[in-house]
Amino acid sequence: MKKIGVLSLQGAVSEHIDKLGNFEGIQPCAVKYKHEIEAVDALIIPGGESTAIGKLLSDFDLSGIIKSRILAGMPVWGTCAGMVILAKKIRNDERRHLEVMDIEVMRNGYGRQIDSFSTSVRLTEISQGEIPLVFIRAPYVVGADSKVKVLLRINENIVACRQDNMLATSFHPELTEDLSFHRYFAGMCG
Ligand code: GLN
Repeated sequence: MKKIGVLSLQGAVSEHIDKLGNFEGIQPCAVKYKHEIEAVDALIIPGGESTAIGKLLSDFDLSGIIKSRILAGMPVWGTCAGMVILAKKIRNDERRHLEVMDIEVMRNGYGRQIDSFSTSVRLTEISQGEIPLVFIRAPYVVGADSKVKVLLRINENIVACRQDNMLATSFHPELTEDLSFHRYFAGMCG
């Protein structure tokens, strides 16, 4: 049984937990204390507001434990704000958070809340079917080191990528009916 924690400081937590509940061998749980983070096999950092999540990470003194577990190989997936939290560089913000993934992101890259949109793609590496994508004040990746594997671009911008044990998506698979990205991440957890 693999225990996947969803960082439960702010944002779309229960939606990820519901999706993970579809897989055998996966035990999802919300985590927000150090001892809970130490006890999981993998972690999802959900969408929400990266400034708020980043502030709570430092207020609750969680950055150190999460960062060291990621650097030791724990699988992690950042969706939307979670992507911003993982990035080493943020082009339009002087704040930095976990700084573990060799990507440079543009926060709110698609504009304001009103510019949120959905689309769908085919991406055979993730799923045989069409994958719906929901973008809500989403960031995108403007620069990635060669260690980063680009999984998906939309109009030049990288919106899904992976670096070893780290996965980042600009969009919110937990807000759709589709399980492909959760299945892919469960696969990363062994
Ligand atoms: N715009 C938000 C941020 O940068 C992310 C939005 C989201 O997670 N849906 O924090």
